[in-house]
Amino acid sequence: MPDPNSLYGPLDPAPDAGWSSAPPRMGFFTDTSVCIGCKACEVACKEWNGVPGSGLDLLGMSYDNTGALTANSWRHVAFIEQARPAGHRAPPSAPPSAPPSASPSAGTPVSVPASAASAAVAGGTTDLAGTDPGVPPESPSAAARMAAGGPTDVLGDPVGPGPVVGGAGPVVGGAAPEFLGMPGAQPPGRGTGVQERTDFRWLMMSDVCKHCTHAACLDVCPTGSLFRTEFGTVVVQEDICNGCGYCISACPYGVIDQRKDDGRAWKCTLCYDRLGAGMTPACAQACPTESIQYGALDELRERAAARVEALHERGVSEARLYGHDPNDGVGGDGAFFLLLDEPEVYGLPPDPVVTTRDLPAMWKRAGLAALAMAAATVAAFVGGSS
Ligand code: SF4
Ligand code: SF4
Repeated sequence: MPDPNSLYGPLDPAPDAGWSSAPPRMGFFTDTSVCIGCKACEVACKEWNGVPGSGLDLLGMSYDNTGALTANSWRHVAFIEQARPAGHRAPPSAPPSAPPSASPSAGTPVSVPASAASAAVAGGTTDLAGTDPGVPPESPSAAARMAAGGPTDVLGDPVGPGPVVGGAGPVVGGAAPEFLGMPGAQPPGRGTGVQERTDFRWLMMSDVCKHCTHAACLDVCPTGSLFRTEFGTVVVQEDICNGCGYCISACPYGVIDQRKDDGRAWKCTLCYDRLGAGMTPACAQACPTESIQYGALDELRERAAARVEALHERGVSEARLYGHDPNDGVGGDGAFFLLLDEPEVYGLPPDPVVTTRDLPAMWKRAGLAALAMAAATVAAFVGGSS
């Protein structure tokens, strides 16, 4: 019977895995409040670990081009675009007297009035759905320029597709692309006045494998491909993985993934090779704002608590930590986060639980059921023969 604490609850995972003289547990603290979405972390991860490209096409709804953590994206910078300042705005169909509806952004102020621009965007009576990078305020919006005849560059000059008459002249032929409301690099509200700029915010977050204290991926791996390192991290050895995929359904965060062309499982290793050489993981090394901080987990937890306190003092009441608590359903994460909204807003499970937690109880019940069935069979046999 395994020690119940080996499946849930606080634990120092490296000594538990048999490392007799393990160094302090190492991890990541990702402070999303200072992430600028530059994706240097994604690129550095790919560069150092030889991870294949994920394509350069934007998803059509944000600056995100990777979409999620996958076998080929071990860091994923999420762009969450919220057409509100820091408070909830009632949907346009709601009557004026209706109470505020439940919001995925609960916990943020509710008294911030919607600006005229926000109300117009929400009501669909304006084309101010996006901002135009670098375009003077008096210029027509991207939507208006596209509607007027073909795509333009960031300065409003026409560009392909289709033949261009006279070199720099207007585009002739070719269907104008649909304007998707893509936000530009220009601060929201540039064309409408400073008072409008608080109507839109981006949440950016560099997601990664959580290197769980109780890692279900590791628990279910039948080949020993996934193992616990002396630093307390979880690493998959690609030369041992047989591609069974058990780890993928076991991960409560949906992190680990199979590569389509070889079937094996891949994920962040927290740069195990760099850690062994006393180096900082590539993503943390590349991050220009220190949004990704690497270090001893205990020290990171103290640093994160102080950061949340400082943000609260400065009025950012929605700042909260995620994955830092050793008493949560996975015994705390080796990679935890400071968020500015509910975990669900970032695509994170609000209350993750290690999926192997109930296995001992399940096996016990299955064993009892098997014994009862065997006893009934014997009784029926003996009773029948007498
Ligand atoms: S269970 Fe998922 S998040 Fe946790 S260590 Fe394994 S792959 Fe990473
Ligand atoms: S975490 Fe750092 S490197 Fe990654 S996108 Fe944010 S600011 Fe850039």
